[in-house]
This record gives sequence, structure tokens and C-alpha cells, in this order.
Amino acid sequence: MTQGHSDTVAQWHSGTVAQWRSGTVAQWRSGTVAQWHSGTVAQWRSVAVSRPRSTAPQLHGSTAHLRPAHLCYFPPMSILKVSRLGHPVLREKASDVEIRDIKAGKFKQLIDDMVETMHAYEGVGLAGPQVHLPLRIFVFEVQDRVAKRRGVKQVSVGAVFNATYEPIGTETITDWEGCLSVPFLGGETPRYKRIRVRGFDHDGEAIDLELEDFTARIFQHEIDHTDGHVYLDRMPDLTTLAYTIVL
Ligand SMILES: [Zn+2]
Repeated sequence: MTQGHSDTVAQWHSGTVAQWRSGTVAQWRSGTVAQWHSGTVAQWRSVAVSRPRSTAPQLHGSTAHLRPAHLCYFPPMSILKVSRLGHPVLREKASDVEIRDIKAGKFKQLIDDMVETMHAYEGVGLAGPQVHLPLRIFVFEVQDRVAKRRGVKQVSVGAVFNATYEPIGTETITDWEGCLSVPFLGGETPRYKRIRVRGFDHDGEAIDLELEDFTARIFQHEIDHTDGHVYLDRMPDLTTLAYTIVL
């Protein structure tokens, strides 16, 4: 899901993630945003120097989800390049990850990066195929201001692996939906009101959740991504598809 793309973001996309990663957020911040905005990506690259990506303590092993690591320690962020509709990775059925790899912490940095990417584009969810990884992983969060704007529940940040869902009942809700991989557009999309989700959390622990309303919508959208589907596939009436910048 998406909103708020700007020309600046589009310019930034003209660089590559690999190049961007060679710098750090702290270094980037040492320049001024005004300079960066007025300059070119090439100029900005001239300030990037190599530095280990992670120098801050991580709290991913805690049960406090991912929030403390992001809000307290400001680990180096990597905003990943988002795949757009037309890239084959969005139409693949993604692969399950190994649970032992989750438990070994092999996805911690990826979760960090996906959350930062989701925040950068003001999305409420982001799936592996959307960052060019055909893996069954997604992150989600409904921040307070988005919850207030849309009149939905705030949802704390989290990550889910190898998720599947099944409807509980047949009731559906039709509401506006957008996607970071289909930028600037949105349309009325029906989703099951209530679903059951099974998968594994960021610690590799099995989860079995019953979700409803907007949270259920997010999970259906993101799990669909890991099955090779986008929300357009779920729209019965494409005449509601429209350009928009508001989530
Ligand atoms: Zn999406």
C-alpha cells in the first residue's frame, strides 16, 4: 500500500540500492536536505563513504517486536528499491523461508530495511516480492496518524513469514486500496472481513491469528503479494481505479 510519492522520491529511485547502501543515514544527514534536493543523485553520491552497516545494538530477540530497535537506537537504514507492476517477481509464488534461519537471526537486517522502506513510502505493509525478493515475508504497521485519517485501528509494527490466510465466514468489505508497487493509483477492492492467518513471527515462533477489518485487509493484501497477486486482481470493477496521493 502506498501514498505520498513525490518527484524527490522518483529522483532518488534513479540511484541504486547498492550505491545508496555504501553510505549511512548519519552521513546522509550530515549534508542538508536542501542541498540534496537541489543537487543530483550523482552529487549526493560524492559524500557517501564506506562504513559498517550496523553499529548499534539490536533488540530483535526481545518480545517487544521491532519497535525499540527502530525508535531508540537509530540503526543504519536501507531503503530498498520497490518493484513495480510489470516486474516478474510480483507475479511469482514466493518461497517459504527456513524457520531455523529466522531463529538464527538471518532476516533481522531485512526486516529492518523493509520496515524503513515501508515508512519511507508511508505504506502500511510491504512484502518480499515488493523488494525484489521472492520470499514469503511481509512487514506491516498502521501508525497513529494513518489510523486517525482512515478511521481504523492503530497496529504495531511486525513481520510475518510463510503466512497463509483463509476466510472466516463469507462477509466482505469493499474499501479503497493502493499498493507501493502500483504507485499513485487506488481502487475499490473487496476483502474478507475476517480471516485466520497462520505463519511465523520475527522470532520464528508459530502464529495463528484471527484478524478483522482493516488489519485483515492489510494481511490479505500482503499475503496475496507472496502468492503472486496484486490488489488489481481482486477488483471486480476497474472503473473505480483512479490516481490519488492520499491513502
Ligand atoms: Zn502492495
